[in-house]
Amino acid sequence: MPKKKWILTVDDDPAILNILEGALAHPELTITTASDAQQAFIQARDIAPLLIICDIMMPGSGDGTTMLKLLRADPRIPRVPIIFMTSMDLKKARALLPFNDPTIGLIPKPLDLDKLRKYVWDLAGVAAPPDLTSELRKVVIIGSGAAAYTAPIYAARANMAPLVFGGVSMGGQLMITSEVENFPGFPEPISGPELMERMQKQVERLGVAIINEYVVKVDLSRRPFYVETSEGTAASANTLIIATGANAKWLGIESEKRLMGHGVSACATCDGFFFKDKEVVVVGGGDTAMEEATFLTKFASKVIVVHRRSVLRASKIMQNRARKNPKISFIWDTAIDDITGNGQVDGVKLKNLKTNAVTALKCGGVFMAIGHTPTTSFLGGQLKMDENGYVIADDRTHTSVPGVFAAGDVMDHRYRQAITAAGMGCKAALEAERWLEDQATH
Ligand SMILES: Cc1cc2nc3c(=O)[nH]c(=O)nc-3n(C[C@H](O)[C@H](O)[C@H](O)COP(=O)(O)OP(=O)(O)OC[C@H]3O[C@@H](n4cnc5c(N)ncnc54)[C@H](O)[C@@H]3O)c2cc1C
Repeated sequence: MPKKKWILTVDDDPAILNILEGALAHPELTITTASDAQQAFIQARDIAPLLIICDIMMPGSGDGTTMLKLLRADPRIPRVPIIFMTSMDLKKARALLPFNDPTIGLIPKPLDLDKLRKYVWDLAGVAAPPDLTSELRKVVIIGSGAAAYTAPIYAARANMAPLVFGGVSMGGQLMITSEVENFPGFPEPISGPELMERMQKQVERLGVAIINEYVVKVDLSRRPFYVETSEGTAASANTLIIATGANAKWLGIESEKRLMGHGVSACATCDGFFFKDKEVVVVGGGDTAMEEATFLTKFASKVIVVHRRSVLRASKIMQNRARKNPKISFIWDTAIDDITGNGQVDGVKLKNLKTNAVTALKCGGVFMAIGHTPTTSFLGGQLKMDENGYVIADDRTHTSVPGVFAAGDVMDHRYRQAITAAGMGCKAALEAERWLEDQATH
């Protein structure tokens, strides 16, 4: 096995350490960090790094010169180069150094990261890693849920060399789902995170590069399209697949988080089955709430709709359907103050918004139906969207901009299921491939 090449970075500011870690990232290097002179000394002794990069002034934890003295006084630590970062005038900084030694360098802050990167890679004898984003891509996929993980499977098998920008919290909404019982191919329930991990592995096995950064900017007026992330990584692509999903709106109370997946849900289609013969509460007053409440009556013995106002926002037809259902009752002008239960929901505390009176209600489940927010703000209004911010796409996933496709919950507020999202991801990849072929032949 080749010996690991370590670089040790030392600073008491985690932000600087993060910058260095990101800038020097290389498959053949391991960047390790220390926050003070003492830690740096122990690490340098244990891992024998190729290079140490350190701030010359580290208030509170002993400055860089203390570290330098410690390192150079210990014969077990090789005399590796040490680079000191400094915001001071370089002459003044050099005067602080206890030794005049050619293995000790000084670099000014703000750092010239390109220069530093080149120096480190030359010192380590490693070639620059391939720039995944430098070449023009046939397709770039944005997202990391069921839709975004299905599209590259099809695109890779069609030799489109897709690139995926998956954001930092990969896996999408299923990451907060304890059991998925309705995804074909799994006779036993599978946990949401495990299902998503399997999808990701399948994508990676096909050699698809996934970049864990959020896309913050797209330019759909240029051809090829331009995409940029919060880290400044940019890519250009002939086609784009938007699969950034949506997020259920939650109440934001502590007990809701604690009991999520243990009686608290935001998806009746997904979890209703687990509430057979139980009394459940549905929170909301719009179409979604009426739909969820009506659907839940197939399983629950009783469904209580809790609404903040005295009138529903839902369409007449949805209201009538719910009101006529003998299993559904309504509590008006009321909000959920708390959800109770030790490990599993056993009730809610309701607050009457007119009287402020708080009462307890026993129930086995609470369904939030106060809406979803599609993740579309980064598109800057460049695609046609409906009044709730969902991307408008046709049955074949084409959006208002030719060459841009949308798949999954970002454009679907009707089904909102992993399998439908995956199906649309497949459609989008096939459509992107055909669209490119059409462009080439016209
Ligand atoms: C509590 C709960 C339980 C559920 N249970 C089930 C179930 O049992 N069965 C079922 O079929 N469905 C279930 N669903 C619904 C299912 O999770 C969704 O329908 C499905 O995840 C939609 O997939 P998607 O790919 O469209 O988007 P999402 O899953 O929403 O994923 C979108 C991804 O894109 C990433 N992203 C967003 N913006 C950017 C950006 N700018 N740059 C890069 N990445 C970005 C996000 O971080 C996210 O990871 C459940 C949903 C919830 C909330």
